[in-house]
Amino acid sequence: MTCPYCRSQNQPGSTRCAACTSWMVDPPPVREWTRARSQRMLAGVCRGLATRFGVPVAALRLGFVLSVLLGGWGILAYLALWIAMPLEPAPPAALPAPAAAGTA
Ligand SMILES: [Zn+2]
Repeated sequence: MTCPYCRSQNQPGSTRCAACTSWMVDPPPVREWTRARSQRMLAGVCRGLATRFGVPVAALRLGFVLSVLLGGWGILAYLALWIAMPLEPAPPAALPAPAAAGTA
């Protein structure tokens, strides 16, 4: 199939263009399993899951704490998710840097 972005030929059934890595069939999944970079407490797993499933992060953290108290399997689950979940992509560098002006 032909990439709609760069017009290069790709293998039939491919979902991403091998040349420009654009998605050719569906838009990329909006919510991936990624660990949060900001507003996180440990590895960002809870926050990432909260974003993924649209649930309050406080509820996830509460559940995690309870699971630790009730046998500790939550620690294993957390470590497994920590390893399995990639870190979310870095935000665009267009964010303004912290203003240093006016602090003299
Ligand atoms: Zn392409």
